[in-house]
Amino acid sequence: MNTLELRHIRKSFDGQGVLEDISLSVPAGSVTAIIGPSGSGKSTLLRCATLLETADGGDIIYEGKYAAKDGVYAPKTELHAIRRYFGLVFQSYNLFPHFTLLKNVMDAPVQVQKRPAAEVREEAMALLGKMGLADRADAYPCQLSGGQQQRAAIARALCMKPELLFFDEPTAALDPIAESETYEMFHSLAGNKTAVYISHRLASTRFCDHVIFLENGRVTAGGSHEELLECCAEYAKMYQVQSHYYRKDARVTA
Ligand code: ADP
Ligand code: MG
Repeated sequence: MNTLELRHIRKSFDGQGVLEDISLSVPAGSVTAIIGPSGSGKSTLLRCATLLETADGGDIIYEGKYAAKDGVYAPKTELHAIRRYFGLVFQSYNLFPHFTLLKNVMDAPVQVQKRPAAEVREEAMALLGKMGLADRADAYPCQLSGGQQQRAAIARALCMKPELLFFDEPTAALDPIAESETYEMFHSLAGNKTAVYISHRLASTRFCDHVIFLENGRVTAGGSHEELLECCAEYAKMYQVQSHYYRKDARVTA
């Protein structure tokens, strides 16, 4: 069963179509990248998929459970349950500035999920350790680099144990080396976690099983990174423009 399935999603703002008939499947254990130029509708798609925005039409299905069918949403209690399936990581990290890293990671599992603090603390410390932040657990976000803050935000999302993690431009504020490290750490840590990366940059695509290219609110190509280089001229152009960053840091070379 697919962890997430979107069928024929449509969304307009003020009569202007932003998403036009978007369908995609995210199988369990797979990593999907949604790539496209700025303004192509990536964040709107993520906001619709994560129920932060209401789609005008289409189906949103998590593990066989309909959040929306033909644009009609399930009752609030069902949507509330479905929200537990996914975690979100944004460009802006969204860490609480007045909490230490450890408290940032522990807060929602303890306060929202009502899990025992001792158990959560152990998990949070293990996650911070795997993200290379064991010695920074008592630091505040402002004392860390952007890359470290983003890795803490990923640890926080993972500590909630979501079925599916969405990343919206998670590394857009980072330099290419910190960007590469962030993806590498996530992948070595998350193993077979199901994830969707949304970005106008291609650094994540080598970690992805499937790449979807979005242009003007439409999916114009889908396949592996290599397949898209072959069949999608806009994708190939984007890769060419960005590839000098990747060559500087051999680990990011696709
Ligand atoms: P991307 O994330 O690919 O850069 P977005 O999904 O943020 O693209 O935006 C796609 C289009 O939808 C843009 O033209 C943007 O101006 C428009 N848009 C996004 N959110 C809103 C909103 N809340 N109200 C009106 N227009 C919006
Ligand atoms: Mg965006």
